[in-house]
Amino acid sequence: MTQAHIVHYINGAVANGSSTRTQPVYNPATGAVTGNVSLANVADVNAAVAAAQKAFPAWADTPPLRRARVMFKFLELINQNKDKLAHMITAEHGKVFTDAQGEVSRGIDIVEFATGIPQLLKGDFTDQVSTGIDNWTLRQPLGVVAGITPFNFPVMVPAWMFPVAIAAGNTFVLKPSPIDPTPALFMAELLKQAGLPDGVFNVVQGDKEAVDALLVHPDVKAISFVGSTPIANYIYETGAHHGKRVQALGGAKNHMVVMPDADIDQAVDALIGAAYGSAGERCMAISVAVLVGDVADRLMPKLIERTKSLKVLNGENLAAEMGPIVTDTAHKRITGYIAQGVQEGAHLLVDGRNFDASTAGEGCKDGFWMGGTLFDNVTPDMRIYKEEIFGPVLSCMRVADFAQAVELINAHEFGNGVSCFTRDGNVAREFSRRIQVGMVGINVPIPVPMAWHGFGGWKKSLFGDMHAYGEEGVRFYTKQKSIMQRWPESIDKGAEFVMPTSK
Ligand code: NAD
Repeated sequence: MTQAHIVHYINGAVANGSSTRTQPVYNPATGAVTGNVSLANVADVNAAVAAAQKAFPAWADTPPLRRARVMFKFLELINQNKDKLAHMITAEHGKVFTDAQGEVSRGIDIVEFATGIPQLLKGDFTDQVSTGIDNWTLRQPLGVVAGITPFNFPVMVPAWMFPVAIAAGNTFVLKPSPIDPTPALFMAELLKQAGLPDGVFNVVQGDKEAVDALLVHPDVKAISFVGSTPIANYIYETGAHHGKRVQALGGAKNHMVVMPDADIDQAVDALIGAAYGSAGERCMAISVAVLVGDVADRLMPKLIERTKSLKVLNGENLAAEMGPIVTDTAHKRITGYIAQGVQEGAHLLVDGRNFDASTAGEGCKDGFWMGGTLFDNVTPDMRIYKEEIFGPVLSCMRVADFAQAVELINAHEFGNGVSCFTRDGNVAREFSRRIQVGMVGINVPIPVPMAWHGFGGWKKSLFGDMHAYGEEGVRFYTKQKSIMQRWPESIDKGAEFVMPTSK
């Protein structure tokens, strides 16, 4: 099989860069190396930032309506190429094709949102703040902004960032995950076809070396990061130290509470989809089921049965419910956590380590496969509860009542997403108000907010003030300017030495 050489995209063209470091790219379903991705050095990053810096003044001066029209054209092109992008995702990430299509759709939502930029950038105006004086505010772009993104959504997470940033008049440097680097390059090509001027959107492939170069570069004005919590923390501190605006979204441990009055079949469906969809490699995956009162006795038999009968197949097979794990390293980490859970005394009801890879499809025996894993009687002191596993492992915990469920969740260091299944309106209301988590679902297992609402967790799941996309995204990528104006006819004669007040 020929191996692709996956490089950068700088100033409107594919660029090899000067770095000689590369990293293999795998098809996780087969374990085969399908390409090698360049890992940028400081010079490569500097070239991308220089291209973006050069493109900034003209792009920032382009009327928002014209910037929006480029987004409309991009929207048309990305819709035409939706399945092509989804196949690229499945090939390098492993997630099932239909899920990859869903990922692209959720990215497209943000592009649609960004086409409304003229309305979103509208300022406000006060006539006559003092006699003959008017005051208004407007929002202006920051300059070159950078996005550093994780492996698990190679299209959707970059799309949380660049459509809004670019539509607002910034220029962009994307540093995708080197694990699945191809979709970013394809989106760069589509943006060019849509008429985006060269240098407005650039891609540098790479690892820590590229990230560190972006973090200290004086021309990079803001960093958007999505990834694991230790790196998010590092990005936030280092970026802020170098005078940048930073939003850094981190890891998660998402709970789903099942109340005794919940519909048990609906709750089982929700848990199966949210725990094992995308092999649990979603920051909004449910990894803990909090079973209240007698729910466990009614729910566990069904959950065990469904976990055992998951259709774990090559993601290109349309019958697949779950695909492989992204890398061999991730596979080892996840199986290590399963062993840890057993050692800590959790009850292992379904062991995904026993999965037979040859049943996943032709050519899959060397892929990074495992089945769904289910633990019961997990307790708060266990590492499998405290830490993010980021794989198809669902931990069940039993609590006596609603108050204990809320207390448990609020004590966890992560606060990304949470869900509560109930028929009781008051429980739903109390849960939404009391829970210390950024995104809440009531009978919705994965409450990823729509494009115009903004995405972000609390506690160790987000460092910074602004959530991603939505109006928070517009605020993140722009700075407010206040202008006060009068004309010579309304200027009083003589110097004023006192603080001006409204006259
Ligand atoms: P990761 O933290 O390993 O990598 C994220 C990005 O940081 C990548 O571009 C990577 O190349 C770069 N990076 C990795 N190590 C670095 C280092 N030492 N210094 C500088 N840069 C570094 O995350 P991942 O494994 O790609 O993605 C999975 C993680 O992302 C999970 O923790 C998941 O919860 C999280 N995630 C969070 C959200 C959210 O919205 N909160 C969304 C998606 C994923």
